[in-house]
Amino acid sequence: MVNTMKEIKENICNSCGCEVSKAELDDINKEISNSNKEIIYDNKLLLCKICFPWYKIAHAAPKNILGYKIKNPDLFVEESINVQTLLRKNWSEHCGTLEGLLEKPIDDQRWYQFLRIVMTEQERLSQLKRYIDMDKLPKKSGLTLEKISLEVREHLSYLETATTDQRLLEEHGWRDYAEEIKWPVLDKLTIGSNSFVIQKHSDSHILLKEVNNEEFEYSDYPIRPFHFCNFLFREICEERQNKILVGVKWLVRIDSLLSKVFDHIDVPLNPQLQREVYYIIQGYAPRIEKYRFLALWSFLDKIHPETNIHHPVTNLWVENPAWEKSFQLFRSVIQGLGRVVKPTVSGFRILGNSGAIYTVEPSTFLDWNQPWVVKKKGGKGKKICIDVQMSMPLGDMLSSLALSLRDDLNSMKHIHTLNPNVRQEDGHRALYELFRN
Ligand SMILES: [Zn+2]
Repeated sequence: MVNTMKEIKENICNSCGCEVSKAELDDINKEISNSNKEIIYDNKLLLCKICFPWYKIAHAAPKNILGYKIKNPDLFVEESINVQTLLRKNWSEHCGTLEGLLEKPIDDQRWYQFLRIVMTEQERLSQLKRYIDMDKLPKKSGLTLEKISLEVREHLSYLETATTDQRLLEEHGWRDYAEEIKWPVLDKLTIGSNSFVIQKHSDSHILLKEVNNEEFEYSDYPIRPFHFCNFLFREICEERQNKILVGVKWLVRIDSLLSKVFDHIDVPLNPQLQREVYYIIQGYAPRIEKYRFLALWSFLDKIHPETNIHHPVTNLWVENPAWEKSFQLFRSVIQGLGRVVKPTVSGFRILGNSGAIYTVEPSTFLDWNQPWVVKKKGGKGKKICIDVQMSMPLGDMLSSLALSLRDDLNSMKHIHTLNPNVRQEDGHRALYELFRN
């Protein structure tokens, strides 16, 4: 008795919550092994036959994330599954918290937590950890991060006072006169064995004009003082003081790229964090990390839609609270249709009233307008475009699609792509027409 109870509990579809019989599971497994297509799915997921192909699409790869093209959708799907397993592990290890991973990273601590999931090389991760806990670093040349920050702050306020007369003249319309005067050459900022000419750009940024008496290539690129100090400290710790000019050029290049990819606000401040993020997304780190990075980013995007631009595509995601209910509906529709419909691991086949047989499969990409591919048997593989212009959970959309394909003779009045006499090229807003009536 106890055993039977346990068995029932374990055989619950992860998608619709229905009970899945042993025979149905065997049937799915048999179909997967006989299929000539490669079907990627999470072995640990238990799914009924009706949900199986559609749950998969919820993990499907978008065409691009953060401006990076997903060239290998299969790898993306694999990494999406990995990321969710890692998050579950992280969750149980940290007593039911995601340790700052509840949303997209907005500060250095969260960026670090984010990269902990993404990075696969322990050595790089430990190095990163050392730079996150800056104060634990060995103090080379007696310089600490605090000391460097203080030097920079003091130098900035010295510049402020030393240039008061010059600025006052300029502000009062004596710019030409001010330019003629030979103002004393201001002291350079000296940190360790390096000297810099810096200038205030705004309240939160400085400009780097000169490095070791050489004019700086990106002298008009605003840098945050904290970022600059952090960078100097890292270079000193790593004994790269003699290569500071090369280092600072990279600092600017990486910062400007990341500012374009992410919003300025969300860019990590710590230079080591920046460097790792840059390596990963630009593909210099192992390729798997780039895919994992983008998969995790897109996952966090999904669970926190309110922090992002609203997009109805959330209706296709399993995280949508309406997912389970909508697939219960779809399941009852399929069961109600009986023998005229046959669910398979790659979608379903349905017999229309006209005698035509349609196959419906998930499309490769998460396309809200057409999450499916509909084909007619004998139609030489030509796709029938039936798209949706209304936001609703995937199960609801599939229910409507199945019913209108079954009733194809009637649907032809609204969905003229179904009509064999109409030559059809593009998608029509057909289902929308149906739903509106
Ligand atoms: Zn199910």
